[in-house]
Amino acid sequence: MQHEALQTLKRVYGYDSFRKGQSDIISGLLGSKDTLAILPTGGGKSVCYQIPAMLLPGTTIVVSPLISLMKDQVDALNRLGVPAAYLNSSLDAATYREVVRQTSQGAYKLLYVAPERLDSGMFESLSAQMHIPLIAIDEAHCVSQWGHDFRPSYRQLAGWIGRLENRPPVAAFTATATPEVAQDIAAMLGLHDPNIFITGFARTNLTLSVVTGTDKRKFLRDFVQQRPDQSGIVYTATRKEAEEVCEDLSRLGIAVGKYHGGLNDEERADAQERFRFDENRVMVATNAFGMGIDKPNVRYVIHWQMPGDVESYYQEAGRAGRDGEESECVLLFEPQDVQVQRFLIDRGTGDPERKTIQLNKLYTMMHYSRTEKCLLQYIVRYFGEADVPECGKCSNCLDVSAMVEVTEDARKALSCVGRLKGRFGISMAAKVLKGSREKRILEFGFDRLSTYGLMRQWTERDIADLMYYLVAEGYLRISEGEYPTVSLTAEALPVLEGSVPVHRRQSAAAKRRETSSS
Ligand code: ADP
Repeated sequence: MQHEALQTLKRVYGYDSFRKGQSDIISGLLGSKDTLAILPTGGGKSVCYQIPAMLLPGTTIVVSPLISLMKDQVDALNRLGVPAAYLNSSLDAATYREVVRQTSQGAYKLLYVAPERLDSGMFESLSAQMHIPLIAIDEAHCVSQWGHDFRPSYRQLAGWIGRLENRPPVAAFTATATPEVAQDIAAMLGLHDPNIFITGFARTNLTLSVVTGTDKRKFLRDFVQQRPDQSGIVYTATRKEAEEVCEDLSRLGIAVGKYHGGLNDEERADAQERFRFDENRVMVATNAFGMGIDKPNVRYVIHWQMPGDVESYYQEAGRAGRDGEESECVLLFEPQDVQVQRFLIDRGTGDPERKTIQLNKLYTMMHYSRTEKCLLQYIVRYFGEADVPECGKCSNCLDVSAMVEVTEDARKALSCVGRLKGRFGISMAAKVLKGSREKRILEFGFDRLSTYGLMRQWTERDIADLMYYLVAEGYLRISEGEYPTVSLTAEALPVLEGSVPVHRRQSAAAKRRETSSS
């Protein structure tokens, strides 16, 4: 079988060898093993279930959440000469019936299905007539409340699989799962003693950077103009921003398109095509754009604003360099952007528990933007892969300025937070350290605290910046909720006692001195 798998890879796809993980996943599936595979975006998930589907008798069912993704995959398979079809709400009634009819006659090797379809009585009776050798579940993190894209329809999967007469092996795929989410996926899908694969989160062809305190518009214009032959994506948080940024680039004569949920299907399809075929070299888009786009030569992904969580960031940034060539991922970060994301969470439909999870994810994303350590390592560790060396080329690794000791400053900040007893946020603590005469400060009597005015020569913003750094380093913790408060972690105590030093990049420390002396 292993030999046949490789033959199929060569014959159907024209590739010479399997990528890391692929052949182990495939042989597990051919041996009827339940599987949970966490492969990064662009890692080559599809091959892992498409090859078994071609080799096994019957029709493999692929559950996938996005309609555009299904169509792309099915078109691609048909081009490769593999009979495949999909069932989702985009089909008209006659086509739908025809696909169902063909499916019941075993015409397809793969049938892509939207999760909402599974629950219908029609689909139950269809699956009873089918021979299903394998069920592949794409974007499996959608089944987990702890994931970043929970979809209630995924919760029906386990029930449907359980009702199948001969339960086939189940393969769950995702690009983004922390260890916690991975466990939850296995439980929620009812996987039986699954083979678990976690491979290659470190996309070493990506150069990550975080850029703060810059004129974003100018930065973006320069960046795009300096790369006249390159294709790139700019992600914005809102439709309005997508419109504005697109307009701005277009005024410079750049061939740019836009993609967001406010456009109609035709406009979106048109934008996608133009981008795919390099008629437009830049795409400005909200997160509506992307799942399933497989454009290999995207050379950069710029985030105009931070997304709400590290999973989304890495997934979106990971659309650069799918061909393995060197590519750049830039996050433009401004502290106020955190508020936009908080607003989106507050306004969202999640229940309180879900909102708390989202807020925690948002804070982790914020820490990413603040950390002074290797950015790639930060992300990869977040996904549970431990032993990955520093990338040597992200904006933090390239920041050659030495680490300097900032223990004294850190102790001042920490002791002020300690005195506020976890009842206030970072901005209040910064005001106390600054020695602000604001009414609230005086009303609370904070001008009588021993830490009042201890960092008088700093700007409030720089004090807050230092505190966010201390959060990123694990000395401070920010609570969830509408009014986040800041408090000390256990790690802070040795620093306060003077037994552990705190270091920071000289560049960050120096920036503070420049602004405060000016
Ligand atoms: P994802 O894991 O993001 O779903 P895909 O399955 O779309 O990734 O694969 C990403 C790209 O890598 C596709 O262009 C695919 O054809 C290509 N690919 C997959 N497996 C191999 C392989 N063994 N050798 C070369 N290219 C591969």
